Amino acid sequence: MCSDVSVNEMKRIYLSPPHMSGKERFYIDQAFESNWIAPLGPNIDAFEKQIASYTGAADAVALSSGTAAIHLSLQLLGVGAGDTVFCSSFTFVASANPIRYSGAEPVFIDSEPETWNMSPQALRMAFEDANRHGKLPKAVIVVHLYGQIAKMDEIIELCEQYEVPIIEDAAESLGSTYKGKQSGTFGKFGIFSFNGNKIITTSGGGMLISDDVELLKKARFLATQARDAAAHYQHSHLGFNYRMSNILAGVGRAQLEVLDERVAARRAIYENYVGAFSERSGISFMPELSNTRSNRWLTAALIDEHEMNTTIPELLDALSAANIEARPLWKPLHLQPLFEGSRFYSHTEGASLCEQLFQSGICLPSGSSMTVVDQVRVVDCMNNLFNSSAESSAQSA
Ligand SMILES: *Cc1c(COP(=O)(O)O)cnc(C)c1O
Repeated sequence: MCSDVSVNEMKRIYLSPPHMSGKERFYIDQAFESNWIAPLGPNIDAFEKQIASYTGAADAVALSSGTAAIHLSLQLLGVGAGDTVFCSSFTFVASANPIRYSGAEPVFIDSEPETWNMSPQALRMAFEDANRHGKLPKAVIVVHLYGQIAKMDEIIELCEQYEVPIIEDAAESLGSTYKGKQSGTFGKFGIFSFNGNKIITTSGGGMLISDDVELLKKARFLATQARDAAAHYQHSHLGFNYRMSNILAGVGRAQLEVLDERVAARRAIYENYVGAFSERSGISFMPELSNTRSNRWLTAALIDEHEMNTTIPELLDALSAANIEARPLWKPLHLQPLFEGSRFYSHTEGASLCEQLFQSGICLPSGSSMTVVDQVRVVDCMNNLFNSSAESSAQSA
């Protein structure tokens, strides 16, 4: 339907595939030559320093995943059984799972329309309720979805008022800025992910950043099984095995060297999509808050199903039939069976914005290695569906 060429002959267009620079092998080879085949070594030290200097944080700790970084942040803030943690609802499950690992309960906060991220209005209501019940959360996890930074000024003001620390889940927003400052540097802790689909990757991995150097020392300690200073493997704390491999940190070093290029490429892809559909009022794109610069990790669009006379599942099917990977937006966590019964604070009473976004949104292929030809293929496929939907609605009218 989308092309005359057989679909099988067309290479698959992925949502966000890894994009190597070519220099990764150089640092991997160094690891092999020096035999630092371990969760410590020169690549790790260098990668941590590079991330700290890129973001402007005082220090950084390389970890096995972004999820591990969130878990360690919660541990460092003393989150435990019986505690609550506020968390964005509109996100990937990994933002909230570590709350449960810690024995605590999440309370989910809705999105607001200008960033699609945590609504300061809903956060205020959650704080007021918690305060009335005499049980403030131990932390607030703010997610910067698809690269767009949340309304940090408003969120920080509220969290300072109630003296609750912020953990920034910046897994999707490395390289994004808010008033010129890097994502991940606004909270007590910031976390990044280098999973295979992220803007830069180590195949799997994460990073914890903070200006609190003492707490990050403790993070390194907890991430290496919490060994006391004794030759005989003595332990007085519960630790984890969460450090990054020195081989993978080598991949990260090379990837970070091209991060700015990757951001530019993803932003260009976003601009292309916006331009390609500028004549269609039934499709709109994720906004960019003024004074912020998104890395546009994924281009996210909203489809007005009435105006376009088509549905998100139909669109996903059409793209899939053309060997193109696209995805719905994240299913809000307060709707996940896993978190059934969890509390949720909506942006406006009786209407959940993130549910509306979930129902009408789609993520389009956005990999930084995507060619112009690939992008035309995606746009043509979508236009074919939109045109045939418009025809069938004209015929039935
Ligand atoms: C990818 C991602 C994570 C988890 O990172 P991992 O490195 O895969 O553990 C957490 N939060 C968000 C929003 C993510 O997109």
